[in-house]
This record gives sequence, C-alpha cells and structure tokens, in this order.
Amino acid sequence: MRLVDAHTHISLAQQEQATELAQRGVWQLVTATHPEECARVFDLAKTSQRIIPTCGLHPWRAADFNPRVLEDCLQKVPIVGEIGLDTVWTDVPLDVQLKAFLCQLQLAVTLGKPVVLHTKGAEAEVLHWLSRYLPPKVVVHWYSGEAKYLPSYIELGCYFTLGPDVHTNQTVQAVCRQVPLDRLLTETDGTEAVAWALGEPYTLAVVPQVLLNTLATAARLRGGTLAEMQAAVYANSFAFLSDIKGTPVCN
Ligand SMILES: [Zn+2]
Repeated sequence: MRLVDAHTHISLAQQEQATELAQRGVWQLVTATHPEECARVFDLAKTSQRIIPTCGLHPWRAADFNPRVLEDCLQKVPIVGEIGLDTVWTDVPLDVQLKAFLCQLQLAVTLGKPVVLHTKGAEAEVLHWLSRYLPPKVVVHWYSGEAKYLPSYIELGCYFTLGPDVHTNQTVQAVCRQVPLDRLLTETDGTEAVAWALGEPYTLAVVPQVLLNTLATAARLRGGTLAEMQAAVYANSFAFLSDIKGTPVCN
C-alpha cells in the first residue's frame, strides 16, 4: 500500500485493528507515551513487522519522571519518543518537562537512538537543546510553530511529519513547502488527533484514506503528482528507519 503513519497512538481497544491495518500494508510507528505503556506497545509490535514501537515520557506526563525507569525503558526501544516540551496544551510546569526531556534527549544521544520530538509552543527552546544534544536521526512531529525556526531544524537534518490538517493549517502548509522533499513524512497522531483536526470521529479503518489525502494535498502544495509524493514519502520513511535495529529495510 506504500503508506506510513510515522507517528500514531493506538489504544488498547484499537490494537486488533492496528494489526489488520498493518496486514493490509500500512506501516505504523506506534508511540507509548509512558514507560508503563511500553510493554503493551511492544506486544502489539510483535503482531506485524509493519508496527514499530517508539517509547518516551510525553511532556504532558513529565510529572512521572523517574530517570532510572526511563533509562531501562529507552535501552529497549528502537526509537525514543515522543519527547519534548509543550507550553500550550498542558499545565505541567516547563521546568518539570525540561528535566524529563533533557534526560531522554541525552540518553538518546548516548544510546545512538533516533528521536521523535513534540515541540508545541516551545519550538525555540527545543531547538536550543537539540543543537546541543543531537541524536542520530530526528523526526519533528506535526510542527505547528513559527516558520522562522524551520531552517535551523532543517539544518540539523530533521525529518518532519505532516499532520492531517495540512489541507487547512497554514503552518503545516509552510512546513510542506519549505522542508526539503526528502525529509517529509506523514502521520495521523492517532484517531483522536485526526478527529480533532478534521472535526468528526474517525476509526483506524480510515487511516489509509487520511494518509492518502495528506499526500494528495502535499503534492498539490509542491506542484507534483500524488504518485510522486507517495513514492518520496515512502522512501523517506525507510531512509529514517533504515539503520534502526530490528527494523526491516524497505520492501
Ligand atoms: Zn503524539
């Protein structure tokens, strides 16, 4: 199917459907936002090679920061995240978030693992730390900050996922236009985020269509065809995944 959801969340109730989606050919990077979810996401990943687990302490859950637990967890995961900072959608104080973020970012660098970043409202601050501690590969998930920070993130070699609101969100459209074609990825961020972005309830069954719609809009914004955009994003996804332990190379 040549579709990759490069950042998603799968609830317990959605697990079977996620496996079916993978069996139909959709690759999914499934995120555990807390070490306690890690085992469940790992078990889900065992059901298909197209489900790749990522784990980190999400900034909204940073109050649970425990360095020892996190170190154990991050040693096991192929990809660290989503981690980062958020000044918009959470009341967790920034200094609490920063402790968890920095610990995980530094661990990712030490362990040589790629990272998925959450940057909402804290794009400048995340960039500041990323320029000091740069993991081998970075995905900036659903960037929605000021366009002025984009060149610096691009210069650091980051990949960027386009969220499902690319049809209407001018910031996401700016990301689509400004980021080099070989760094663009697609994501849903899970069905709750799709419902939030598009204004109606969604199930996992529509994920292929959501990803295709994102690719079609991205193609239109950049002046190419859907087939070209789909091929580029698919190749980018596997360039990102290529030397990650336990992950198959493009097939
Ligand atoms: Zn997410």
